[in-house]
Amino acid sequence: MSTQISMRPEHANVPFVDLGAQYRAIAAEINHAISKVIQETDFILGREVRLFEEEFAAFCEARYAVGVDSGTSALELALRAFDIGPGDEVITAANSFIASALGISHVGANPVLVDVDPCTYTVDVEAVERAITRRTKAILPVHLYGHPAHMDPIRQLADKHGMLVIEDACQAHGARYQGKRVGSLGHAAAFSFYPGKNLGAYGDGGMVVTNDGKVAERLQMIRNYGQQEKYKHLFRGHNRRLDTMQAAILRVKLKYLEQWNAGRRRNAKLYQKHLKGSGVFVPGEAGGAEAVWHLYVIRTEQRDALKEHLDSKGINVGIHYPVPIHLQPAYQDLGHKRGDFPVTEAYAGRILSLPMYAELSDQEIEYIAETVSEFQSSHGTGEVVSESRARGASPSI
Ligand SMILES: *Cc1c(COP(=O)(O)O)cnc(C)c1O
Repeated sequence: MSTQISMRPEHANVPFVDLGAQYRAIAAEINHAISKVIQETDFILGREVRLFEEEFAAFCEARYAVGVDSGTSALELALRAFDIGPGDEVITAANSFIASALGISHVGANPVLVDVDPCTYTVDVEAVERAITRRTKAILPVHLYGHPAHMDPIRQLADKHGMLVIEDACQAHGARYQGKRVGSLGHAAAFSFYPGKNLGAYGDGGMVVTNDGKVAERLQMIRNYGQQEKYKHLFRGHNRRLDTMQAAILRVKLKYLEQWNAGRRRNAKLYQKHLKGSGVFVPGEAGGAEAVWHLYVIRTEQRDALKEHLDSKGINVGIHYPVPIHLQPAYQDLGHKRGDFPVTEAYAGRILSLPMYAELSDQEIEYIAETVSEFQSSHGTGEVVSESRARGASPSI
């Protein structure tokens, strides 16, 4: 009877993310940091913001970081700092969170969507090249799911055509490409500290990272009413600052980020091991890429049925993202139709994000993988054969 314990929990409940478990491990430090900000009443652009900016820039192996109020703002303000606006085009991926396109729209520029690489889910470089026009000012690659985009060919294209590269690193804090941290690979990069991200605040927050001192200075004004010193407003700026309270929390958490990312990488390996032969397509890393696994996304043709099955077993999963940007009501004016981005569209019906965070136990991963495998073996395994033909590079963890 004792051999049955917890290997196959009767009423298992595996949350999709578990921010409570993370908090409990560092509660004393977090509580101290919060209460210190309150006691010092240092709420707006306080000392903790400045220190966190320095520490986060160092983490990204970049020179400057400017704290803002969300990842969406980070994208928008980064583009604004480079004077991208009405009449300009910015190329980004159709398979991303809507905010990648919103940042572009909010400065008045036109998002030009392209399909993604079938292996890495990041922007297809050949499609980017085909989308370049005289109006293209920037490429905005998304390091989706924590996997870096193909930055060398993107940089080469950008240099050749005199375009900027603004990284959407909102899902990829700490990922590396050819040994270098994301955030230092383009002209500027946007990060989000939305609570569920690899580095998450207890509310909204974001950061622009850049090696360009002038751009950093400009961003400091843009986020703060366009002022250089108090009540001296050089242009019509915004109020988009990172809260001191969030910065204090993020400083505590930044110390653990490498450890948490290592936990995610370990869990990705465990998933790969236990899902082997299950018939679902598991994600990998392209050569030179070190992913930080913000999301662990598998693919199967029976996605909706598998999702329902996992739900019924207490395993909480997600879909990132069920409707591609070009098929969203918000972007009907781009004039796209179904069929324009075949990889993105095919994947939207097949992708499924399994629970992924450092605190997941080996047992939970085994339980999830077994539940997936059991379902697949009773519902056929067509996916791997058809998918393997579409793969550009061979993934390996
Ligand atoms: C989360 C996210 C954003 C937006 O960040 P917010 O902080 O929620 O505004 C932008 N792009 C991607 C790819 C994201 O995952």
